[in-house]
Amino acid sequence: MVYLEGMQRVFSRVQNHVGERRMPTNVNVYVTDVTSIYPSDSPFTSVGADDRPYVVLRSRMDAPTREAALACAEAEAIHEATHVCAWTLRPPQRNPLVEREWNWLNEGTAIFMESEIAAGNPGFMRFVMDWVDKPEVSLPDPAAEYQAGMFVRYMAKTFGEKFVWCLWSESTEDQGPIAALDDALKAKGRDLRTLFHDYCMDSYFTCDPDRKSFFPRVHARFGSRLARETWRLTQGAATKEAATDLPHLACHYYRVHPGGCRFRVSLETHSLSLAIAAMGYSRDFPGDGSTREVLTIGSEISTNADQVIITVSNSHARPGPAPEYTLRVTPI
Ligand SMILES: [Zn+2]
Repeated sequence: MVYLEGMQRVFSRVQNHVGERRMPTNVNVYVTDVTSIYPSDSPFTSVGADDRPYVVLRSRMDAPTREAALACAEAEAIHEATHVCAWTLRPPQRNPLVEREWNWLNEGTAIFMESEIAAGNPGFMRFVMDWVDKPEVSLPDPAAEYQAGMFVRYMAKTFGEKFVWCLWSESTEDQGPIAALDDALKAKGRDLRTLFHDYCMDSYFTCDPDRKSFFPRVHARFGSRLARETWRLTQGAATKEAATDLPHLACHYYRVHPGGCRFRVSLETHSLSLAIAAMGYSRDFPGDGSTREVLTIGSEISTNADQVIITVSNSHARPGPAPEYTLRVTPI
């Protein structure tokens, strides 16, 4: 019953977003001891010889309580039903290279739907820890496909959930998800570079109710995303410097405590896909009287903010050698 309800909630919700495109009315769902047919104990969705998706869910669960097992069953049903919707809107193509490119969006969409539909069910939170701790991991990295749920969530909060489903329904056969996203953004007068950069900066502030990435549960459990360095400035002190490289579709954060100092920020790089931004905020953020301040890089920065978060992001769409950069923060 939990399985059925979870799946139906996904189908009717997605149907609302896709209009005349019909979500499946009958899907083959097998509930069995998954370990008897598959090396791992995970539920899964696959495509049969008739090109229709089918779902395999678990008949046995080692969750320690009945409540935990039901919560798990709900999340797994929502997750797999999301894969069915994605593959109904965009049936998997014969080209395995193109299909592999869609993995991160497929898992990211499923995790996003878990976080939205199963209100109060914290199952998806186990994937959030790496998203918080490893902002330098590429969005499409095969080891981080579930973490992409946070990027999908950002897109849904920015443009509406329909936008996410249109990536599935409007893409062409030979397109990967980044190309599909690029097209969808162009139709809105936006581009991947600014969207990705905005996402990176925004997603540091999961504690800020005015942000698309506002997610108090995530902030309460894991805190802010990991800053690569924390620098405390004192007047006349030496320049703080970080020289490193950054993979595509990833970011680094630097936390600066100005301590009343004026300072300059500079980014030295040969890459056109790197972008930088700085945001000041007060320590008791987001409490009463807290402030947020977008700071202009390249000019002398003078702020009363307790902390300044510098975001360096790489919006390059394709994998390749990670571009190098040097970030300098100089107290004046
Ligand atoms: Zn999945």
